[in-house]
Amino acid sequence: MDCLFCKIVNGDIPNNTVYEDDTVLAFYDIDPKAPVHVLVIPKQHLSGAAAVTADTAAVVGHIFEVIPQIAQKLGITDFRVVTNNGMDAGQTVGHLHFHILGGRTLGEMG
Ligand code: 5GP
Ligand code: ZN
Repeated sequence: MDCLFCKIVNGDIPNNTVYEDDTVLAFYDIDPKAPVHVLVIPKQHLSGAAAVTADTAAVVGHIFEVIPQIAQKLGITDFRVVTNNGMDAGQTVGHLHFHILGGRTLGEMG
Protein backbone atom coordinates (compact mmCIF):
# COMPACT_ATOMS: atom_id res chain seq x y z
CA MET A 1 0.00 0.00 0.00
CA ASP A 2 1.24 3.46 -0.87
CA CYS A 3 1.13 4.97 2.60
CA LEU A 4 3.72 7.47 3.82
CA PHE A 5 3.50 6.43 7.47
CA CYS A 6 3.61 2.71 6.61
CA LYS A 7 6.85 3.52 4.77
CA ILE A 8 8.14 5.24 7.92
CA VAL A 9 7.12 2.21 10.03
CA ASN A 10 8.92 -0.06 7.55
CA GLY A 11 12.04 2.11 7.62
CA ASP A 12 11.77 3.03 3.93
CA ILE A 13 11.57 6.71 4.93
CA PRO A 14 13.78 7.89 7.81
CA ASN A 15 12.31 9.45 10.93
CA ASN A 16 13.43 10.94 14.22
CA THR A 17 12.03 8.36 16.61
CA VAL A 18 10.99 9.44 20.11
CA TYR A 19 9.38 6.20 21.23
CA GLU A 20 8.85 2.76 19.74
CA ASP A 21 7.38 -0.55 20.85
CA ASP A 22 5.73 -3.50 19.12
CA THR A 23 2.54 -1.65 18.21
CA VAL A 24 3.36 2.07 18.29
CA LEU A 25 5.86 4.49 16.79
CA ALA A 26 6.33 8.13 17.81
CA PHE A 27 8.51 10.54 15.85
CA TYR A 28 9.06 14.26 15.34
CA ASP A 29 6.79 15.98 12.83
CA ILE A 30 8.77 17.15 9.79
CA ASP A 31 6.96 20.53 9.80
CA PRO A 32 6.45 21.38 13.48
CA LYS A 33 3.52 23.62 14.38
CA ALA A 34 4.78 24.10 17.95
CA PRO A 35 8.20 23.93 19.69
CA VAL A 36 7.37 20.32 20.53
CA HIS A 37 5.44 18.45 17.82
CA VAL A 38 5.48 14.68 17.78
CA LEU A 39 3.28 12.21 15.92
CA VAL A 40 2.18 8.96 17.52
CA ILE A 41 0.99 6.26 15.13
CA PRO A 42 -0.04 2.63 15.28
CA LYS A 43 2.32 0.41 13.32
CA GLN A 44 -0.79 -1.26 11.92
CA HIS A 45 -2.34 0.69 9.04
CA LEU A 46 -5.63 2.31 10.03
CA SER A 47 -6.82 5.07 7.74
CA GLY A 48 -7.96 7.42 10.50
CA ALA A 49 -10.04 7.84 13.65
CA ALA A 50 -13.21 6.92 11.75
CA ALA A 51 -11.71 3.53 10.87
CA VAL A 52 -11.25 2.49 14.51
CA THR A 53 -13.45 -0.47 15.48
CA ALA A 54 -13.86 -2.78 18.47
CA ASP A 55 -11.11 -4.93 16.92
CA THR A 56 -8.61 -2.08 16.74
CA ALA A 57 -9.58 0.19 19.65
CA ALA A 58 -6.97 -1.42 21.91
CA VAL A 59 -4.15 0.16 19.92
CA VAL A 60 -5.71 3.58 20.51
CA GLY A 61 -5.87 2.78 24.22
CA HIS A 62 -2.22 1.81 24.07
CA ILE A 63 -1.32 5.05 22.31
CA PHE A 64 -2.94 6.97 25.19
CA GLU A 65 -1.08 4.75 27.63
CA VAL A 66 2.29 5.73 26.16
CA ILE A 67 1.53 9.42 25.55
CA PRO A 68 2.34 10.37 29.18
CA GLN A 69 5.69 8.59 28.89
CA ILE A 70 6.42 10.39 25.62
CA ALA A 71 5.44 13.77 27.11
CA GLN A 72 7.70 13.13 30.07
CA LYS A 73 10.56 12.24 27.75
CA LEU A 74 9.91 15.44 25.79
CA GLY A 75 9.93 17.46 29.02
CA ILE A 76 6.42 18.85 28.69
CA THR A 77 3.64 18.71 31.28
CA ASP A 78 1.15 20.75 29.26
CA PHE A 79 0.29 19.50 25.83
CA ARG A 80 -2.51 18.98 23.33
CA VAL A 81 -3.34 15.71 21.58
CA VAL A 82 -5.07 16.06 18.20
CA THR A 83 -6.18 13.71 15.48
CA ASN A 84 -7.64 14.97 12.21
CA ASN A 85 -10.08 12.72 10.38
CA GLY A 86 -10.88 13.55 6.77
CA MET A 87 -9.72 16.28 4.41
CA ASP A 88 -12.01 18.99 5.78
CA ALA A 89 -10.57 18.37 9.24
CA GLY A 90 -7.04 18.79 7.91
CA GLN A 91 -5.99 15.17 7.52
CA THR A 92 -3.21 14.99 4.94
CA VAL A 93 -1.82 11.52 5.67
CA GLY A 94 -4.27 8.62 5.53
CA HIS A 95 -2.75 6.63 8.38
CA LEU A 96 -4.11 7.21 11.89
CA HIS A 97 -1.88 9.58 13.85
CA PHE A 98 -2.10 11.63 17.01
CA HIS A 99 -0.28 14.95 17.18
CA ILE A 100 1.32 15.84 20.52
CA LEU A 101 1.76 19.61 20.58
CA GLY A 102 3.44 21.58 23.33
CA GLY A 103 6.23 23.88 24.36
CA ARG A 104 4.19 27.06 23.97
CA THR A 105 0.83 28.47 24.99
CA LEU A 106 -1.68 26.87 22.65
CA GLY A 107 -4.59 28.93 21.36
CA GLU A 108 -8.21 27.96 21.30
CA MET A 109 -9.25 25.20 18.94
CA GLY A 110 -10.52 26.43 15.60
P1 5GP B 1 -2.36 15.68 9.35
O1 5GP B 1 -2.32 16.95 8.54
O2 5GP B 1 -2.72 14.49 8.48
O3 5GP B 1 -3.17 15.75 10.60
O4 5GP B 1 -0.88 15.45 9.86
C1 5GP B 1 0.13 14.94 9.05
C2 5GP B 1 1.44 15.44 9.62
O5 5GP B 1 2.48 14.68 9.05
C3 5GP B 1 1.73 16.91 9.30
O6 5GP B 1 1.88 17.65 10.51
C4 5GP B 1 3.05 16.83 8.50
O7 5GP B 1 3.92 17.89 8.80
C5 5GP B 1 3.61 15.49 8.88
N1 5GP B 1 4.42 14.86 7.87
C6 5GP B 1 4.14 14.76 6.54
N2 5GP B 1 5.10 14.06 5.91
C7 5GP B 1 6.03 13.73 6.86
C8 5GP B 1 7.26 13.00 6.83
O8 5GP B 1 7.71 12.52 5.78
N3 5GP B 1 7.92 12.85 8.01
C9 5GP B 1 7.46 13.37 9.18
N4 5GP B 1 8.20 13.15 10.27
N5 5GP B 1 6.29 14.05 9.25
C10 5GP B 1 5.59 14.23 8.11
ZN1 ZN C 1 -0.26 3.28 6.60
